[in-house]
Amino acid sequence: MTSPVPHFDLDFGITCIDVEYIRPRMACCYLIVHNGKAAIIETGTNFSVPLILQCLRDKGLSVNDVELIIPTHVHLDHAGGVGSLMQECPQATLLIHPRGARHMIAPQKLTEACKMVYGEAEFVEMYGELVPVEESRVQIMEDKETVSLSGRDLNFLDSPGHAKHHFVIYDEMSKGVFTGDIFGACYPELTSSKGPFIIPPTSPSQFDPDAWYSSLDRLMELNCERAYLTHFGAVNDLPELAVDIRRRIESSSALALGCKSAENLFESIVEALTRETKKDLQEHGIQLGEAEFHKLLAGDIEVSAQGLELWVNQI
Ligand SMILES: [Zn+2]
Repeated sequence: MTSPVPHFDLDFGITCIDVEYIRPRMACCYLIVHNGKAAIIETGTNFSVPLILQCLRDKGLSVNDVELIIPTHVHLDHAGGVGSLMQECPQATLLIHPRGARHMIAPQKLTEACKMVYGEAEFVEMYGELVPVEESRVQIMEDKETVSLSGRDLNFLDSPGHAKHHFVIYDEMSKGVFTGDIFGACYPELTSSKGPFIIPPTSPSQFDPDAWYSSLDRLMELNCERAYLTHFGAVNDLPELAVDIRRRIESSSALALGCKSAENLFESIVEALTRETKKDLQEHGIQLGEAEFHKLLAGDIEVSAQGLELWVNQI
């Protein structure tokens, strides 16, 4: 039987699985298989878990082969399915940032915070109910710690800026880094002859531009050949993209600060980001109609504006 699961193989035993969050090619997770053992980086939401299990079956793997489940941070498009997936994979250990662990063990606070962003009804529709993870199955990964997947080293690097509970995972074998949100989002629909169009998700509530720049500097010191983005897929040309994302973080921050005295701060930031993004897209050689722009970017701009609004009010 052919599988409807939208996953595709990359090199080095890595598979990209579309977690079908909001729309196709918006968010993914990655399966790494090495010597018959598996690590899953990011989980998508509760509703993504069946897609991950189907991918394992398609590859002839059992849930017992999954040794590591590794969300880069605890935002729910990355970690909303962790508890459910841990239940399905009884041998797996959850590897998590020190600041993220308690939210996976007792997800009530995280649930409440996200309901503030999305509203109750939308939250339930998008994420379902978060399942707690047994504390004994949780391993905290500190900065520069390494873990072995059946002999394959995965190295962890603390990377605040998008969120304080964010790390990236360096995989020596692929010379690649799993970047969560710290290296931005590049949707396949927005790639032109000039390369991918990179967007910094300045989501609530821990956006910190200076920390973000430092994290990018540390990430670039790894001299990686590729980055595995959660939104969406693998990218090369990291030095060029690092310049782009830094420039867009700077311009988003400056635009938000410029709106500080506006009567309606949030609306003003949304308008400014929309204007700037349309201008940048045009310069990148991407022509989008209003409906397509809305479908691909309006949601991101709204969440990014929420994060920028909080940040402006704090400084
Ligand atoms: Zn995030």
